[in-house]
Amino acid sequence: MNTFDPNAVCFDQDLIKRYGGRGPRYTSYPTALQFHAKFTANDYRRHVALSNKTVRPLSLYVHIPFCQSLCYYCACNKIVTRNRERVKTYLRHLDQEIDMQAALFDPDRKVEQLHFGGGTPTYLDEVQLRALMAHLREAFNFDESGSREFSIEVDPRTVDSDMMTVLAELGFNRLSLGIQDFDPEVQRAVNRIQSTEEVGALMRNARENRFKSVSFDLIYGLPHQTVDSFDVTLNKALEMRPDRLAIYNYAHLPERFKGQRMINDADIPSPETKLEILHHTIDKLGESEYVYIGMDHFALPDDDLVHAQRCGTLQRNFQGYSTHRECDLVALGVSAIGKIGNIYAQNTTSTIEYEALLEAGKLPISRGIEVDADDLLRADVISQLMCYDQLVFERFNAVHGIDFLQYFGEEINSLRVLANDGLVSIDSERISITPRGRLLLRSIAMAFDRYLGRESTDGRFSKAI
Ligand code: SF4
Repeated sequence: MNTFDPNAVCFDQDLIKRYGGRGPRYTSYPTALQFHAKFTANDYRRHVALSNKTVRPLSLYVHIPFCQSLCYYCACNKIVTRNRERVKTYLRHLDQEIDMQAALFDPDRKVEQLHFGGGTPTYLDEVQLRALMAHLREAFNFDESGSREFSIEVDPRTVDSDMMTVLAELGFNRLSLGIQDFDPEVQRAVNRIQSTEEVGALMRNARENRFKSVSFDLIYGLPHQTVDSFDVTLNKALEMRPDRLAIYNYAHLPERFKGQRMINDADIPSPETKLEILHHTIDKLGESEYVYIGMDHFALPDDDLVHAQRCGTLQRNFQGYSTHRECDLVALGVSAIGKIGNIYAQNTTSTIEYEALLEAGKLPISRGIEVDADDLLRADVISQLMCYDQLVFERFNAVHGIDFLQYFGEEINSLRVLANDGLVSIDSERISITPRGRLLLRSIAMAFDRYLGRESTDGRFSKAI
């Protein structure tokens, strides 16, 4: 059980400037940079067969890479197209992959969690979405109880109230709405125009359709944003009272992401303004009763994320923070990453290759990693710190059969520098993240990452703040 105060976050500008540099987001450990092509589809099959000897339920991730237009800030793996034939071809191959993957898993294993991500999953029309969900239901053993968590990322520009009703009918009970900013000037500068009224109507509709949880994604650091303009966006968002809010830091890397070259550098707020926006946002969400989960995530006190954090079932995965820690994750679609037992496996990021491999009757896995015993320990340390803001040595030793202080002596020594700066405290019982350190979880977790420094990672990771 957790004992820290979830709302104790202290914004320390000086520490953020010193420790808020680039680093992994630790949606997995080891991070995807360590995945390699020696890991093959045969390795994947072998590990799935092993996993079938367990009673672990399943979580499915389905990647729909298509978007109608380009949002200039975007760093996702997506295909901007209006060519509906291309989408049909992709869905045909996705169906093939669903059948191949489903055949590997014990049919008794229930799908407790499902997430449609992208790209834009709601790029699909009603007929396509219905067909895809029907196929998934037929191929896998869906948990239809109230404890299931079936979520979909929604681009508010692509759905109307009828579609919201369809999503509810299909069994989705969670929505994640990409808002980013309500300010028309910011929206024009990033080529993503959607009115507050449209989003408000969708929220009303989501409540009518009894979606259990609605999440808003906002981004700070976008062109033309100021503390005042972002305050207006926050007020509008808070009026709609989403259950969860994710506030992402815009990473401007035009040398890596072509679309970002459409953003005028001069319009981007200064680092000082960005920090002020973040500071203001954290204060405001705290005053509005949102619980700070960690990193960029906030949730209302009765949301499942808060509950999971309190009872020890919270996890970091490719969706950020998530519940259902006990599931094996099956990845479907181009570039999707799965996790089965102790392995990660990623599908090829090329749609052409994805479709060609499936045409040839092969699973489209292009790389992955089998994590070793040391990775597993480090993954758990990072997860404890990022999900629960503390690590209790006795509990950790009981689970893993090691002496933490002996095994991680070097790491503890490097953490002492951060302890002297007030980001963590270390005593004979535990490592605790302090209110000052909570915004800098990535920098703290990095002390336990044995891969950092082995190769140049400059520009591969975004800044922590
Ligand atoms: S932000 Fe979303 S909708 Fe916009 S281009 Fe990226 S994936 Fe597509």
